[in-house]
Formats: sequence, structure tokens, C-alpha cells
Amino acid sequence: MALSTCIKCGGTTFELRQAEPAGAMYVVVYLQCMSCGGVAGITDYFDIGTVVKQMEAEVKSLQEAVQARDYNVRAIASRRHRTNPGSSA
Ligand SMILES: [Zn+2]
Repeated sequence: MALSTCIKCGGTTFELRQAEPAGAMYVVVYLQCMSCGGVAGITDYFDIGTVVKQMEAEVKSLQEAVQARDYNVRAIASRRHRTNPGSSA
């Protein structure tokens, strides 16, 4: 397997460094050479896969909460209808 090397100094070890480029309104992460700081790559601050998984779990939790409330509302409406059959609710 080829060894990744810095195009500036030939270094072979890299690190991630959080940065907010001038003029940017957001944080990014640089993959940079540990020897000279040459930037080899850039990535988003948030791992999009992790964010999507968290959102998926939150949506599922909200769906379950809505279903539970829907069940309770239907139960209340059914009870009201039985005690007051003339009611439209
Ligand atoms: Zn370097």
C-alpha cells in the first residue's frame, strides 16, 4: 500500500485541526501534515453520517410520541362518545 506523503515537505504523518477560515461563517476541519502544517484535505466539522443517524433517532422518537398521543386522543374521544352519544366529538 502506498504511503501518503505531504506534497510540501514529504512528511508522512497527518493530523486533524479545527479551523474557521477567514470570511467563513462556519468551522471546518483540516487534514494537515504534522511536520509542516501543509493542508492535504478539508472536511466538514460535523460528520454528516452521524448527524443523519441522530436525526433518524429523533424522528423515530417523535413518531412514537405522536402515535402515543394519537392513541390517547382516540381513547378520550371514544369514551366521550360512549358517555354522550349525541355529541359529534
Ligand atoms: Zn509537510
